[in-house]
Amino acid sequence: MKPQFRILLAQHYGMCFGVRDALAATEKVASRRPATILGELVHNEVVRQRLNALGAREGKLEAAGATTADVIVTAHGAADRDRKRWKDAGYRVTDTTCPLVRRAHVALSRLVLEGYTPIVIGKQGHVEVSGLTGDFPAAHVVLSDPEVEALPFSERFGVVAQTTQPIERVEDLLEKIRQRHPTAEVVFKDTVCQPTKDRQKALDQLCEVAEFVLVVGGHNSNNSLQLVEKARRRGCRAERVTRSTEIREDWLSGARVVGVTAGTSTLKESVEGVLRHLESLGGKRMASFQRTREPVKSLL
Ligand code: SF4
Repeated sequence: MKPQFRILLAQHYGMCFGVRDALAATEKVASRRPATILGELVHNEVVRQRLNALGAREGKLEAAGATTADVIVTAHGAADRDRKRWKDAGYRVTDTTCPLVRRAHVALSRLVLEGYTPIVIGKQGHVEVSGLTGDFPAAHVVLSDPEVEALPFSERFGVVAQTTQPIERVEDLLEKIRQRHPTAEVVFKDTVCQPTKDRQKALDQLCEVAEFVLVVGGHNSNNSLQLVEKARRRGCRAERVTRSTEIREDWLSGARVVGVTAGTSTLKESVEGVLRHLESLGGKRMASFQRTREPVKSLL
């Protein structure tokens, strides 16, 4: 049977080194002792089920306590005051904060020390953003034009970004902050992580040839949702699935090339399951985009 469509995998896709290392550290602890993860380790249902099967339970970072002696701070990080609170209460804390989230914390605290009014370009209430602003309650969080409009004047603004925001959106909002307060000094520390930039850029390549893009990722994974939104902005039809069984055949109708990518918390086996399912529906894999390994040292 002739293939009905081609399947093209993005050059960069799927689980980043930060999530991979956080998952490995959590599995190591959970396989030895009962442990409570202080939130969702990553925003991916498949990964959460895997940890649940190991006996790891989920709690809340802001809770007063946990039922296990071991607690785990997630890859999204936490405010120093929360980390300290758990340690002071006698819990054994395993900290799986991604080094690139930590870098954003350091950048923000330096800006505050230098006297800048802190701004985080990111989603209000997202766990990473709450961790960033937790130690700096005066920080402003912006992700929309009205939020930029509402910024009170300051002579000096120091800006960082949530690590998983698309860099174009961050640069656009930065420009709007400058326009809103043209006499203010606005310093920006680019804290969008390289794996996010790589996946966004690889999506641009994908959208040049694919009519339909499938993003494999958790329903509340910010970077997976950003991939879907970006593909749609570029004129591609796009949908997100957590696993292959969620794929609807009618999504594929009329597509000669189906692009596949995945968020930074998606397991390789989830992507492989989606690829195999697409093959069973008449797709044939193309080999033009090869995945390159991320040189971890160059990201730090
Ligand atoms: S998405 Fe970026 S910041 Fe978040 S865990 Fe992965 S590498 Fe770290």
